[in-house]
Amino acid sequence: MHKPIVAVVRYEEPLASVRKAVDLAGGLDHLPARARVFIKPNVIYWTTKTVFPKYGVITTSRLVEDAVILLKERGIDDITIGEGLVTLGPKDRETPAHAFESLGYNTLKERYGVKVLDLHQRPFEKVDLGDDVTLAFNADYLASDFLVNLPVLKCHAQTIVSLGIKNLKGLINVPSRKECHSEDPERDLHFMVGKLAKTLPPSLTILDGIYTIERGPLYDGKARRTDALVASSDMLAADMAGTRILGYLPSEVPHLVHVARDQGRSLDPSEVEWRGEAVEDFAYRHEASFPYTDDGTLPLPMEKLGIQGLSYNKYDLSLCTYCTPVNGVTLWSIAMAWKGKAWDDVEVLTGKSMKPTPGRKKTILLGKCMYQANKDHPDIQEMIAVKGCPPTPKAIVKALQQAGIEVNPAHLEEIETYPGMFMKRYEKRPEFQESFYRVD
Ligand code: SF4
Repeated sequence: MHKPIVAVVRYEEPLASVRKAVDLAGGLDHLPARARVFIKPNVIYWTTKTVFPKYGVITTSRLVEDAVILLKERGIDDITIGEGLVTLGPKDRETPAHAFESLGYNTLKERYGVKVLDLHQRPFEKVDLGDDVTLAFNADYLASDFLVNLPVLKCHAQTIVSLGIKNLKGLINVPSRKECHSEDPERDLHFMVGKLAKTLPPSLTILDGIYTIERGPLYDGKARRTDALVASSDMLAADMAGTRILGYLPSEVPHLVHVARDQGRSLDPSEVEWRGEAVEDFAYRHEASFPYTDDGTLPLPMEKLGIQGLSYNKYDLSLCTYCTPVNGVTLWSIAMAWKGKAWDDVEVLTGKSMKPTPGRKKTILLGKCMYQANKDHPDIQEMIAVKGCPPTPKAIVKALQQAGIEVNPAHLEEIETYPGMFMKRYEKRPEFQESFYRVD
């Protein structure tokens, strides 16, 4: 039996580096003539309100354009770039449009005749993935003949890595995304992400490791210039390589273990034919998870501030994509509100699975899921519920203030300017170039 081929290449220059990776992997050798090709970049987040660091968060436009050129060289005319961004408002059309314009996708439309789709404005179709899992995928993707998957090579605070398979989550609709963060430990996020690999048409995955990130998937992680490209027509094999570059064994990544089991495959490197450079030349241990106290009741930076009288339990797998950005800014606003006087024994619970700790004076249930899970819990003395899905910044401010935590409303209500604060980390560091995210 042929082993899947994976090519690992150092990014050195536009087009030539991506071409080398794709050619070494034979990644487009089986592209059908006149194929309808769907390109899936990773544009996980965007905001119109500020410039934020995209390094290791969003696929470089450099890679997207290079992939389009390689397809055009092979005579492919029917090319669609599609992404379903995570936005705070479900009907937000402006943010995806702004993202596509800023990232140069509209220039690619004019220059190469590609289509650019905001997937939330397109139809979805339910797909039975087996084991009683049904998720709704974008219909344009399902109708395509070939997928060019262009994820960022990044760590993820919940799934350890976010690579080719995880990038497919951007193809499903919002209810399906929320469903992936199930509270059922047997069918948790790892299990659900593993199922996404079941729909695949023939594909080429190119992992964009020009920039990688620790504690992703968002702007608050720590980006590195890694200059790695990984190409394979076997998504699991590409992810095995990407995982090693991030400093983990594939067997440490539960969703890869699920996919290997589903496909009757091994995660051993001997199962892959390696081409190009050695993975070890790029490998660096990227931290995936945000550091918390040993008992998981407070982020370490907040403990270092000396915060007392508050438990804000570590996020779990059931905290979905739509509560995650809200959670980050809520923690920051609380840290900013600390004046050195202990709060009144407040516990904040998030996601779908957490349970109140007996004896706490005030319990904030953040989000509709937490409210529904614990609204009648006998261990809650004073319940403060924020029922939105996701909870609104205004409602969070009200709840925190009710609990005696006098956050500045502006910190939460201007949630979309918060990511811009992280730009400072990359100032005066010439290896971080915003031009990678434009098409000139
Ligand atoms: S309340 Fe939060 S975790 Fe629950 S589905 Fe809504 S956004 Fe997701």
